[in-house]
Amino acid sequence: MRVHILDDGTFVTDASNLFGGSRKASIKGAMHPILVDTGDDLALIDAGFGPELPEMLEGRYELRREENLLDHMDEAGFAAGDVTGVILSHLDPDHVGWALNPPSFPNATVYVQEAALEEARQMPDKDGRRAAVPAVEKGVDEGWCELLDGDDEVLPGIRVEVRAGHSAGHQIVWIEDNDAAALYTGDLAPAKIWLDPDLIAGVDTDPKAARKNRIEVLSEVEEPAAPVILYHEPQDSLVKVRSEGDSFRAVAWE
Ligand SMILES: [Zn+2]
Repeated sequence: MRVHILDDGTFVTDASNLFGGSRKASIKGAMHPILVDTGDDLALIDAGFGPELPEMLEGRYELRREENLLDHMDEAGFAAGDVTGVILSHLDPDHVGWALNPPSFPNATVYVQEAALEEARQMPDKDGRRAAVPAVEKGVDEGWCELLDGDDEVLPGIRVEVRAGHSAGHQIVWIEDNDAAALYTGDLAPAKIWLDPDLIAGVDTDPKAARKNRIEVLSEVEEPAAPVILYHEPQDSLVKVRSEGDSFRAVAWE
């Protein structure tokens, strides 16, 4: 099994979009969708912003990139048509772009947790998650989107586990090959700074659940020193995790 960490650019946004409050600070994040080549399947985990920054985020987010996800896939030796499965950790616009708007992987099944879709339906009109609903529903109707109800091995060696908090039905992904496992955390702990369980994002639907799940999952990967892939980490997005008092810190992967 081979895992490729791809790139769909970086964003810069007002920190208030993540923390609420102050309008004086900005924060930067990368988007690193993962491509897993199992030999039989090619799975993409999360799907960046898509061909361009969604309209609803214009003025609030700035998207910087010279090459996009499909360019990076091409450089890794793969075409969009090779992808057989796309796993969406949740329905925020920085995770679903290429999978939904418009769908860019003609031979792939897109896996979404039903609870994430249900939550998105309840969101206000202008919400980013709500914007994903029509495309997911269309995918379900047309048969290219599959709704999941909890933990599941969606493809051999690729197992999703619901760890909610950032959103309802938020799923992390375990990539398993014999005894070895790598973890994709999605937005449960999307960058090094977010390994601190006490740093709570203003956009978490359920901050308490997010904190509890973050501690449990990061505790689980510490001892085996499993590789952890951090979607929004601008630099060195592949790390190991060590506990430090009540918190965790990232150790660079060599
Ligand atoms: Zn995100």
